[in-house]
Amino acid sequence: MTMDRLTVVVAAYNEAEALPVLQGRLAAVLDALAADGLDGRALYVDDGSRDSTWEVLRAIAAGDGRVSLLRLSRNFGKEAALTAGLDLVDEGAALILDADGQDPPELIPAFVARWREGYDDVYGTRLQREGEGWLKRASAHAFYRVMQRLSKTPIPVDTGDFRLLSPRALAALRQLRERHRFMKGLFGWVGYRRVSIPYRREPRLAGDSKFNFWRLWNFALEGITSFSTAPLRLATYVGLGSAVLAFAYAVWVVVKAIFLGDPVAGWPTMMVVILFLGGVQLIALGMIGEYLGRLYEESKQRPLYLVDSWLPAAGVCSGRT
Ligand code: UDP
Ligand code: MG
Repeated sequence: MTMDRLTVVVAAYNEAEALPVLQGRLAAVLDALAADGLDGRALYVDDGSRDSTWEVLRAIAAGDGRVSLLRLSRNFGKEAALTAGLDLVDEGAALILDADGQDPPELIPAFVARWREGYDDVYGTRLQREGEGWLKRASAHAFYRVMQRLSKTPIPVDTGDFRLLSPRALAALRQLRERHRFMKGLFGWVGYRRVSIPYRREPRLAGDSKFNFWRLWNFALEGITSFSTAPLRLATYVGLGSAVLAFAYAVWVVVKAIFLGDPVAGWPTMMVVILFLGGVQLIALGMIGEYLGRLYEESKQRPLYLVDSWLPAAGVCSGRT
């Protein structure tokens, strides 16, 4: 009889300090799952780390026969690293876990239980974020709400990448090969039977977050432009609004000139109108540019990532790279 397989995919960028701790906790969980009739595996993706992450991973794999390693040719970012990992899961379900221990591996059995009940996309919803400043929490809160209003794709609030995907959800996700990968949105697009597991997000085991404010801002832009064309629509309405106002004002200017004469004045009004319209036009151009830039990236059809080394564990096929 073959056992169901679950592969835990961990993207790691400069996580040499946190990985051994995480592996210890993960191995204990995999042991418990094995007793429960599940073939648990781990797949670590080294996203072009510049510290000793790869050496640490080699040591981990040498000590645990369930661990596969993948190393990308450079730092492609978390979304690409996860895609690379998920592409190599050719059997069973996959679960995504952060390398820094913020998503507790001890919760994995709860995810597996939901999967066995027949759910395809079991995702963790953060109840609390510890060790993160108020600004990050507030902006994350606002982002998820704005995203939900703007996008037609259902994207659950306060949900990160901590989730389990059934084999069919995984196969569906693999068909989405867009370059700008806003993973939360992609998971949402796939659909199927989904269920949320609330959990408390722990502080990092070691090191600092790789996502500073600027990176998060870009991430938010990425999300909005990948899953919504609302900004373009907004530009249309702002344009319509200003056209209507301009028309009304033009009528007033003409009427005033005819009945009251025109003692050439109104420099302040003119400046205000010119500057305002100029500003609105530049913003609208910028919005078009955002979408055009994405179209350009997409049209190049480059691969999403390049693999440096692939060291599969015993019993794992060499994959479909
Ligand atoms: N990560 C990655 N590539 C990157 C940046 C981050 O693989 O370019 C990984 C990182 O090692 C960690 C996960 O993505 O396992 C989440 O990163 P981080 O903890 O910095 O983000 P946060 O939890 O603050 O959102
Ligand atoms: Mg983290």
